[in-house]
Amino acid sequence: MPRIRIPIYVAVRAALRVAAISCWCVAPAAVPAQEPDWTQPVEPFRIAPGIFYVGTHGLAAYLITSKDGAILVDGTVAENAPLIERNIESVGVPLKQVKLIVTDHAHYDHVGAVAQIKRDAGARVAASAGDAGALRRGMPRGDTNYPATAFAPITINQIVADGQSVAVGDAVVTAHLTPGHTPGCASWSTTVTDGNRPLHVLFLCSITVAGNVLVGNRAYPGIAADFEKTFAKLSAMQADIVLPSHPGVADVLGREVRVRAGDTNAFIDPAALPAIVAQSKADFEAALAQAQKAAR
Ligand code: ZN
Repeated sequence: MPRIRIPIYVAVRAALRVAAISCWCVAPAAVPAQEPDWTQPVEPFRIAPGIFYVGTHGLAAYLITSKDGAILVDGTVAENAPLIERNIESVGVPLKQVKLIVTDHAHYDHVGAVAQIKRDAGARVAASAGDAGALRRGMPRGDTNYPATAFAPITINQIVADGQSVAVGDAVVTAHLTPGHTPGCASWSTTVTDGNRPLHVLFLCSITVAGNVLVGNRAYPGIAADFEKTFAKLSAMQADIVLPSHPGVADVLGREVRVRAGDTNAFIDPAALPAIVAQSKADFEAALAQAQKAAR
């Protein structure tokens, strides 16, 4: 029987709407501070050779493994730390083998658990200069239309520049600075080999406006220009697999269901990145036009 698939651009539009609401540090009073699915467990699963999903239903954490240790991308909210640690071990990686943690951006829904996981694993943390201060303080910077939420401060062991790679054994991730959502928002790429086929994987930072003040942002005056540069940069990039910090943005969990149903290539989708970027750019431009109009 033919399977009905939702086109990626329709799924992206719906998921970005959710991410734009939920990826706020704390939403306005009308919106719950924390989405229920952020702490909802899911069975960890393999995405590609050496890459595993170890997050929850609504917040991603990814593990990149090597024989010499592993890299964790993101930690999710603080209360998930024991769950993420169990998930890591359940895919066969002892927690102490997590040697390096990188994060996509300094908001509590992605880094709240990092301080504890870092401590428990004895891992190093690498971060971009733009978000390092916020990570060390445990508080994001930038003017937003909601009150920010603190998280446990994180010791940064290494500052990573745009294009710089960090490695654990033969697991290597390269930083691609994609600021806007936060000043140091970092996407990370790696390449894995599936059979003889190289797969370019991009761990995509949030690129939603999500309550950021776009006009007259005193804490982050260059925010709109940064968003524009980020969209141009991501438009020129190519990824076979996109893994965002909010998994719904690329239907990560839905793809896993498809893999289990026999569609072994469900994670491979070079059309996903352009679709996500195009929708986010359109949403940003609409938000910027509205902010500029309001400022007149
Ligand atoms: Zn965020």
